[in-house]
Amino acid sequence: MLGIEYVRKQREAFIGALISAPLANENEEIVNRESMGELFDACVEALTQNETDLLVPVLDGLINRAGNGKYPVLLNLSNQINLWFIKSALHNLAGDECRVFLKLTLPYFSFLQEYIANHQLGDNFRLIIDGLNRDSLERFDKSKSDFISIAAHELKTPLTLLEGYSDMLRELIIQKKVFDDHISLLLDGLDSGSRRLREIINDMIDVSLIENDLLSLSFQPTWIYKLLERINLELREALVSRSMSLKIERFPGDDSVNFYDGERLLQAIYNVITNAVKYTPDGGKIIISGRTIDEFIEIVVQDNGIGIDPMDQVKIFEKFQQLGKPALHSSGKIKFKGGGPGLGLPIAKGIIEAHGGRIWVESEGYDEERCPGSAFHILLPMRLEAPERDLSLLFGRMALRNQKREMGSG
Ligand code: ADP
Repeated sequence: MLGIEYVRKQREAFIGALISAPLANENEEIVNRESMGELFDACVEALTQNETDLLVPVLDGLINRAGNGKYPVLLNLSNQINLWFIKSALHNLAGDECRVFLKLTLPYFSFLQEYIANHQLGDNFRLIIDGLNRDSLERFDKSKSDFISIAAHELKTPLTLLEGYSDMLRELIIQKKVFDDHISLLLDGLDSGSRRLREIINDMIDVSLIENDLLSLSFQPTWIYKLLERINLELREALVSRSMSLKIERFPGDDSVNFYDGERLLQAIYNVITNAVKYTPDGGKIIISGRTIDEFIEIVVQDNGIGIDPMDQVKIFEKFQQLGKPALHSSGKIKFKGGGPGLGLPIAKGIIEAHGGRIWVESEGYDEERCPGSAFHILLPMRLEAPERDLSLLFGRMALRNQKREMGSG
C-alpha cells in the first residue's frame, strides 16, 4: 500500500497548500483548515477501502456550505487538489512509485470533479424546471400521452372500416360475385372511411399550426350569412336523420362584407355547430342568432342539449378535452354524443383568435335528463377593409400570443 502510505504523510502539506492558495482568501467558508482536513481524511478512507462513495458525505457538506452560486469555486478547488497531488507525487516519488500512486488516486479525483459537476447540473436543471413551472411540465407530459392514445383510437376506427370494406371487395372478386350495386356500396364505405381519416389528420395538423403560431390567414371578402347557410346546407341530411331543427335568425350586419379568412371561419363555426348537433339528443333544436355591437359581430349558437358544467367551460377549449367519457367514444361525426378527438373547439378557438376575436360558452350546467343546453358565443371584430397579407399574418400571431400570455398569467 505504498501509495496510501505516501498520501497519509501528506496531510499537513495538503491542508497548508490549499488554505494558503488565493482561492481560500475569498472563500474561507469553504476552504479552511477544518474542511480541508475532513476532505483529506475522507480521501484517505476512500482510498483505503477502495470506495469512492465514502467521499460523498464530505462533498455534500462542502456543497451545502458553498451554496448555489459557488460551484465554480468548488470545481476550482477539486482541480487544485488534483494538481497538488500530481505535482507532489512527481516531486517526491520515484518513477514506478509515482505511476502506481497516480493510477491509484486519479479515479478519486475524477470522482470529486464529476460529483460536483453533476450537482451543479442537477441544481441548474431544477432551477429551469421551477422556472418552467412543474405544473405545466406535468400537463405537457399528460397531453403527450393523451395525444398518443386518442390519436391511435381515432385513427384506428376509420382504418378498421377501410380494412373491412377492402376485405369484402376482395372476397366478392374472388368469388366472382361482383355486382355494380355491391361495388358502389363498398366504394362508398371506402370513401367515407378515408374521408374521416383525412379529417382527423387535418385536425391534428391544424392544432399543431395553431399551437406553433403558424396559422396563416388569407383575408377575402366574407359574408357571415353565407357561411351559416353553407353550414346549414351541409348538415341538412344529418339534421333530418336525427329529427333536429336548425334555425338561422337574420341580424343587421350579417350580410355586410367583412374581410376574414372565409374557409377558416367556416371551419371554426362548423365545429361549434356540429358540436351543438352532437351534444343534443334527437329531436333537439339549434338556433343561430347574432348582433352587431360597436365594431364587433357576435354570433350565438344555442342548443338544447346536455349542457356543460361551469367547471369545464374553459377546459373544453384545450385540446383533447372530452368530457364525461368513461371510455373513448366512437368517431361518429354527428351521432348523439359521438365524440371526436377533442380538437374541434381548440381549432375553432385558434381560428377565431387569429382573427382577433373571442369564443366562450355559457351553460347552466351538465344534465342529460333536463338538457339545459349551451350557448357558444363567437365575437369577431369587423374588418371592412382588406388588411395587407403580412399584417394579417402578424395580427393573427399577435392575437394568439397575447391570449397565451393572458392564460399563462391567469
Ligand atoms: P370533440 O371532438 O370531442 O367533440 P371538441 O373540442 O369539439 O371535441 O369538444 C370538446 C368537448 O366539449 C366535447 O367532447 C364535449 O364534451 C364538450 N362540448 C362541446 N360542445 C358542446 C355542446 N354544444 N354541448 C355540450 N357539450 C359540448
